[in-house]
Amino acid sequence: MADAKVLIIGGGVAGCSALYHLALRGWTDALLLEMDELTSGSTWHAAGNIPTFSSSRNIIKLQHYSTELYTKLANDPNYPINYHQTGSIRLAQNTSRWQEFQHVHDMANAMGLGYELLSPDQMQERLPFLETHGLVGGLWDPHDGDIDPSQLTQALASAARHMGSTIKRFSRVTKIEADGNGWKVTTPEQAYTCEYLINAAGYRAGEVSELLGQYLPVVSMQHQYLVTESIPELEQHGSLIPLVRDPDDSYYLRQEKTGLILGPYEKQATPNWADGKLPENFAYQLYEDDLERLEWYIEQACERMPILGSVGVQRVINGPIPYTPDGIPNVGPAYGLKNVFHCNSFSFGICQGGGAGKTVAEWVVDGRPEWDMWSMDARRYGHYADQDYVVDRAKELYGREYAIFFPHEEWPGGRPRLTSPLYETLKAKSALFGARGGYERAMYFAIDSDNLGAEHSYGHGPWHDGAKRESLHVAEHAGVLDLCGFAKFELKGAGAKDWLDQQIAGRVPSANRLSLSYFCYTTGGIAAEMTITCINDEHYVLIGGAPARVHDLDWLEKALPENGTLTVTDITDTKSTLVVAGPKSRAVLQPISDASLSNDDFKWLTMQQINVAGHPVMALRVNYIGELGWELHVSNEATLAVYNALFESASSAGIDFRDFGQYAMDSMRLEKGYRAMQAELDHETSPIMAGLDRFVALNKPNDFPGKDSILNDHQNGTALKYVQMQLAETEFDAIYGCTIHNNEIAVGYTTSGGFGFRVGKSLALGYINADLATPGTKLKIGVLGNMVDAEVVEEPLFDSNNEKLRA
Ligand SMILES: Cc1cc2nc3c(=O)[nH]c(=O)nc-3n(C[C@H](O)[C@H](O)[C@H](O)COP(=O)(O)OP(=O)(O)OC[C@H]3O[C@@H](n4cnc5c(N)ncnc54)[C@H](O)[C@@H]3O)c2cc1C
Repeated sequence: MADAKVLIIGGGVAGCSALYHLALRGWTDALLLEMDELTSGSTWHAAGNIPTFSSSRNIIKLQHYSTELYTKLANDPNYPINYHQTGSIRLAQNTSRWQEFQHVHDMANAMGLGYELLSPDQMQERLPFLETHGLVGGLWDPHDGDIDPSQLTQALASAARHMGSTIKRFSRVTKIEADGNGWKVTTPEQAYTCEYLINAAGYRAGEVSELLGQYLPVVSMQHQYLVTESIPELEQHGSLIPLVRDPDDSYYLRQEKTGLILGPYEKQATPNWADGKLPENFAYQLYEDDLERLEWYIEQACERMPILGSVGVQRVINGPIPYTPDGIPNVGPAYGLKNVFHCNSFSFGICQGGGAGKTVAEWVVDGRPEWDMWSMDARRYGHYADQDYVVDRAKELYGREYAIFFPHEEWPGGRPRLTSPLYETLKAKSALFGARGGYERAMYFAIDSDNLGAEHSYGHGPWHDGAKRESLHVAEHAGVLDLCGFAKFELKGAGAKDWLDQQIAGRVPSANRLSLSYFCYTTGGIAAEMTITCINDEHYVLIGGAPARVHDLDWLEKALPENGTLTVTDITDTKSTLVVAGPKSRAVLQPISDASLSNDDFKWLTMQQINVAGHPVMALRVNYIGELGWELHVSNEATLAVYNALFESASSAGIDFRDFGQYAMDSMRLEKGYRAMQAELDHETSPIMAGLDRFVALNKPNDFPGKDSILNDHQNGTALKYVQMQLAETEFDAIYGCTIHNNEIAVGYTTSGGFGFRVGKSLALGYINADLATPGTKLKIGVLGNMVDAEVVEEPLFDSNNEKLRA
């Protein structure tokens, strides 16, 4: 028997929260090992701010959960914690920021959080020391405040111990080995066996992953805050003042006793130990102060709150704060390792620690968390995410810590990383790229009249004109999209068909056919979406979205039978995908193909191995844009030749054949109502809720994960239901997370939005109360502060009978 069922490495807020939440679930056979004292990593010196604000619905949920948990703990006399819920004001200095606030305000309030939008006068009423020059308004988060991070961690640890869990301090993990079905974890004093392992080693999570033979992209950044001497005005003020964040000037400012804490995120970010090699004995330590780096921010903050400048600085804290390439922590399973989970790399671990502990405990106990936490899944990165990449990305992110994520802004940090064989060719044709799964994919092709210098905003930038040009062109003529990074796996072996049948909710396609397939959790929620193409009963090609590549591979590999009869091979980096589509695509492709592409000979949703310009190609008659077309899967070596041959063929036939980019595809998929993973589809969504009934075979004789739950949804319906909606004329399209209202009551949320150029309408996809999910229902969608009229449409809005696809 193992020494502990679960072993947690790291006694900061994250590890202790994981231990506490496992204990709450009755899993007290758990051991936490800490190399030094509890809290001796990043936790002890954190400023302890606890916001709920986020641009992600589920991160708001997670952070809100933390505030509720901390309130409960702080009210328990057994665990004294200084926790002040002062509320906070975020300041908006410009229109885009104000739009962001209005969006998050709606999103948070649909979840019952009670955010408020404040005018400059209202801000001053709540915080008389605040100067409001140049402010458009502010956002009030009533849950925000600050907590003593050490007391919080000790409270979680004590409560877990009280329930029966064990903590060993001064036990540094130096070796991890597989041990039968579990793990053997060695410290200088002792070795322990366990079934489950949680890496909660904070900024040392990379070191612990290395002990497991894996690289984890995480780097420590220096983050400083200063604490002032006591301020007379605050001494006399009756209560604690609200916390202030100025995202445009990039700092937070809050009361600490009778002084203030000022914490800027400076543009010139400073990574520490950028080579990934950390000093062995750095615990309970800080870096040297460097206030010069903060001068500009201090000046801005003093103008905003003059009492800040009225006293001297009492102390400066400069400590390591972990950053991943997207600034979001890792919480969830580790790729390729049985029962190993991440709960680490938090840049905001104090406010996220409570919810993250709950989440990782659920991963361990239930096999998935209550909320879809894809954004924190460490499998969101691929092999491209190496040390240089994480350092570049972390510098960019830290320097833009509070930046708005505009839907069409492609951040340049750490790029280019992976490129397709067409990269230079497309670049020379003025492609503007964005990274998808690490690959540089053309987003659109600029022309001289595009206003490329325009600042990013929520409105229609030059990308909009590009997407319009390209979608309308493909709809009328034909074009090609280099869909590089599209994840591709080969499944081979005796019994492949039966195995797949037990994995997916739908039917396994027969030879030379393909089908969109869903892999579900036992709850019926969707874990992965892949297009499965049958070569023969012992050979299938599975194709999925680029960002989910490692996740999907892990899902498949962990589900494979242990007897080794089946293999899964990732062939993503060896093959390109060219989407050739549009009404004239057949006329372009036929002259250079050795097979008949007529509708009779090459039907929709079938596959043929053909030669194009003399090169072997797996051609699938399918696409994500809803036009006649083929996906050509071709070896990297032959990609350029096939691409060039397409243009030559089009030119000979007098067809205006052009490149198109991802943004055009995004627009066209909205018109077709094609759902996307991590937008419309996630593990809180069953195929029935998502309106994908036609991809589920409830009457097939065998079981598959989630069958009972999906059957239940099928028979009894779901509370929310997927809908496609069209919006009245609007300056701004809907984005992810807009609240949908019916008679002023929130009844749902959008998962995607954008303009459909073929239908000439602004569109949104999302979920609403099932009783409203019928075509013709009139709704209102809160788009960045504007209530826009919307209507549920009969889906798909574009080419409802798929006549173009079948043409
Ligand atoms: C100046 C500053 C201010 C901050 N302010 C805030 C804030 O206001 N709000 C907020 O939410 N966040 C804030 N943060 C971030 C926050 O401190 C971290 O996100 C959080 O503390 C991370 O907690 P953790 O448990 O993941 O990691 P840590 O606290 O670093 O804990 C990891 C633990 O693992 C142990 N460990 C590592 N390797 C091993 C091993 N091999 N064997 C055994 N044990 C091991 C370490 O000793 C350490 O105790 C701030 C950070 C800094 C630097």
